[in-house]
Amino acid sequence: MRILVQKFGGTSLSTMEAREHVISHVRRELDNGFRLVVVVSAMGRKGDPYATDTLLDLVAEGDSYLPPREQDLLMACGEIISAAKLCSLLAERNISSVVLTGAQAGFRTDSQFGNARILDIVPTRVLEELQQKDVVIVTGFQGQNQGGDFTTLGRGGSDTSATALGAALHAEMVDIYTDVNGILTADPRIVEDAKPLEYVSYAEICNMAHQGAKVIHPRAVEIAMQAGIPVRVRSTFSQGEGTLVANPEGFKDVQIGIVDRYVTGIAYVANVTQIRVESAGKGPDNLQLQVFKSMAENDISVDFINVTPTGVVYTVFDKDSTKAETVLKSLELSPQICTGCAKVSVIGGGINGVPGIMAKIVEALTEHGIQILQSADSNTTIWVLVHKDDMVQALRALHAKFELGR
Ligand code: ADP
Ligand code: MG
Repeated sequence: MRILVQKFGGTSLSTMEAREHVISHVRRELDNGFRLVVVVSAMGRKGDPYATDTLLDLVAEGDSYLPPREQDLLMACGEIISAAKLCSLLAERNISSVVLTGAQAGFRTDSQFGNARILDIVPTRVLEELQQKDVVIVTGFQGQNQGGDFTTLGRGGSDTSATALGAALHAEMVDIYTDVNGILTADPRIVEDAKPLEYVSYAEICNMAHQGAKVIHPRAVEIAMQAGIPVRVRSTFSQGEGTLVANPEGFKDVQIGIVDRYVTGIAYVANVTQIRVESAGKGPDNLQLQVFKSMAENDISVDFINVTPTGVVYTVFDKDSTKAETVLKSLELSPQICTGCAKVSVIGGGINGVPGIMAKIVEALTEHGIQILQSADSNTTIWVLVHKDDMVQALRALHAKFELGR
């Protein structure tokens, strides 16, 4: 049995016109001889009638409170509505389908409501239904804990549902359909001439996703990578093949040839705060330990850490900055806080050991008068921290400097 998993995101299901495109992809792959598992997100974005954020707004009025368990129950509704709608549209076109919730599809998770982890997938029911129906529709983003309660998988959870199901079913491929023509060299909403990449390795897109490229969730990529299942990221609104994500050996089959690039793409995380703490007499080891322990104890996630002989500098999300400041002051430290920063990353498997990459980055930014607040590098990524007001220009300047555009 040749199984293909298709995942359709919110914008791919939001209008009747979009749903017609979805149906065309379903039909084409059935004609190609695949057994299809279709994972759906909730329809549309915040403000649209059945989008997840809209459902949450229903209970967000005033100082109302919904417990996390019930919040997950509510959030799981968007995908159920979306799946039922697709089922009826397919039936109108004589394509038989069945809808399975996350639980019915075999997703077993822990009980961390709102951000549950998949423990195991037992897709017995999916395999049974595949024998009877043309299409098995599975509601994305959700599972069930040991007690049988609905759980949700957190942001980008439907991507994770799709690749995890692909892995459990030994699918031939997982197709992630979205509103752009694949994985691009940068977010096209900011960098207009961003170019679709014909293929990327799991490691490259994993890095880009971790650094903020929201086109696919990093967890989803990690699962596909572990299972060795190729993923395509492609547009619902065209018949283009999009970007193939696989191991470099996998590319030989599609005869793309050798690809030798230093930089794959540019990504960003906006809304971060830089915190600098200098030691005032206390031993530096003690200071570092104190700072990071206090952040961890208060559930504040830290990033972009530079340790110097006299202090530490790191970032937190803007939303945590007040809390972080209070915690540090309570330890009688005097943090310097700089809110409204953005982390910009230059990512590429080929930058390792290549001289001059950092020089090019500095050149691109200083040419535009952009101040670098902090920088760091690994063998696949160089990060710079800039003021948020400079972010858009920094992304465009770097994209141009590395000649990534169309
Ligand atoms: P879906 O609802 O289909 O899951 P998302 O909004 O989660 O869609 O992801 C698609 C969006 O990701 C695009 O509209 C695009 O703005 C954004 N994006 C950010 N970085 C990139 C990138 N490097 N390549 C492609 N898209 C990107
Ligand atoms: Mg998404």
